[in-house]
Amino acid sequence: MKLVEAFDRTVRCYPTETALVTEDGRAFSYRELDERSTRLANALERRVGSARCAVLAHNGPPAITAMLAGNERGVATVQLSFRATTGELVEMAETASARALLFDDGNVETALELLDRGTFDAAIHAGDATVEHDDVESYEAVLDAASPDRRDDHPIGDECAVLYTSGTTSTPKAVPFDQEQLWYGAIQGVMEQGIDETDVALCTTPWYHMVTTDAWLYPHFVAGATVVLQRSFDPRGALELVEERDVTGLLAVPTQLRRLNAVQAEEGYDTSSLSYVRTGGSPLTKRLVEETAERLGERIYNTYGMTEGGPNLSYAHPEVQRERPGTIGKEAFSYELRVVEPAPLSENPDPEATVDAGERGEILARGPGMSTGYIDNPEAEAKTYFDGWLRTRDVAEVDEDGFLYVVDRVDNMILSGGENVYPAEVERALESHPDVREACVFGTPDDEWDNVVTAVVVTDADLTADDLSQFCLDHDGLANFKRPREYVVTSDSLPRTETGKIVRGELADRYFPEG
Ligand code: ATP
Ligand code: MG
Repeated sequence: MKLVEAFDRTVRCYPTETALVTEDGRAFSYRELDERSTRLANALERRVGSARCAVLAHNGPPAITAMLAGNERGVATVQLSFRATTGELVEMAETASARALLFDDGNVETALELLDRGTFDAAIHAGDATVEHDDVESYEAVLDAASPDRRDDHPIGDECAVLYTSGTTSTPKAVPFDQEQLWYGAIQGVMEQGIDETDVALCTTPWYHMVTTDAWLYPHFVAGATVVLQRSFDPRGALELVEERDVTGLLAVPTQLRRLNAVQAEEGYDTSSLSYVRTGGSPLTKRLVEETAERLGERIYNTYGMTEGGPNLSYAHPEVQRERPGTIGKEAFSYELRVVEPAPLSENPDPEATVDAGERGEILARGPGMSTGYIDNPEAEAKTYFDGWLRTRDVAEVDEDGFLYVVDRVDNMILSGGENVYPAEVERALESHPDVREACVFGTPDDEWDNVVTAVVVTDADLTADDLSQFCLDHDGLANFKRPREYVVTSDSLPRTETGKIVRGELADRYFPEG
């Protein structure tokens, strides 16, 4: 099934139900949202024919309308990150062959710079700001002038979106998806979390990330639920929205959960309407599971996914999460996951070489919801896609009952004195110290050991390197060779991507510029 067909069913079944609500209470029914996306689809076609439209906007109705208009046209929406630099954006838009740009008030300056570089043939501005540029049209005027009737030759293609990876390990890669591939992620969300038309989902993560698009927006639209949009994440505002709008579903990556829990502990909003909290994107600790259960609710779903493969390669349901905190569960419907003997990057791993319980290996994934390659990046593509498998570059451990635990990324591994150290394990140990806010571990070059394990520890308390060293010595989960030999103790937060991943390179540069 195509996403546009799934959305059409929702419009037929729930035309007057609320599809979208903004922070300031502007609401759109499914019928209204559908009409607006049809108008935008028609307007885009008059301006750029069957070329793609890129969107540079915060969470808001225009971005969502553009996603749906893209599906209706069958032409991919190019989902740009407003955190990227102008140079990066030019490259992203060019790689994805976008000829139209939709932007909002928060991105006027960048959009004008992009226009001046001649990247686009049409530009539409959604917002209240005054934009002085001859080539820019106003979104509301464009919609008003466009036909509200769906053309009978829609959709003209199967395309859905071009998404970009988060750029944690290198420059973001462009991943094209068709509407059937992303339909799998959507329907999985509905099934696994039991989403229905009575649900109210809060959306605070940037709409253009795989996790938001396909794990949150589409499942709720396919089910006919209501999506409450927060323009950009703010924990206090998010909790206020939960209380005011009787939100039933919350999506938050681990760093957001920490901030939500902290605010909730102090201010005690009424979050009793919440029936599911979905997280994922980076490793989840036992402590965070317990805190979230206490502050926000027991029904925590941890999911594992990646831009290339979809957001739901695996699911750990609340019951599983309670018994095995931090697990990513098992493969989700329609996917197959295997944990296999790691291979060097220059070779494909052997899908038959699965590891035994208690062992570690690299996760391989296959299934119909996955992408099949990158746009214009054959080198990275060859290292990621082979024989129908997706190479995740994530290391996992499998327990006796077949549940998976993400250990770390293959690329983060530190080789110290001939031993393999996965930073995430050491970070988890350090973060179990009650005074440690966050920790990041990496290798620094050393003559004797090749690399020594080094930790940056963020704390507001009076902790010293000796205290931490002693803490690690007493920690039974940490073998001797994994203990950090150098510490930087600071109260400065760690640099993170917008989905909460630590930008390791930046951190190493900050504290060890010579390394
Ligand atoms: P890039 O590929 O550009 O370097 P990225 O891999 O961070 O960036 P995403 O596709 O957004 O971009 O993130 C996918 C990665 O996030 C996975 O490969 C994995 O490392 C991590 N991840 C996702 N979900 C989980 C989870 N539940 N637990 C631990 N790690 C997770
Ligand atoms: Mg990646």
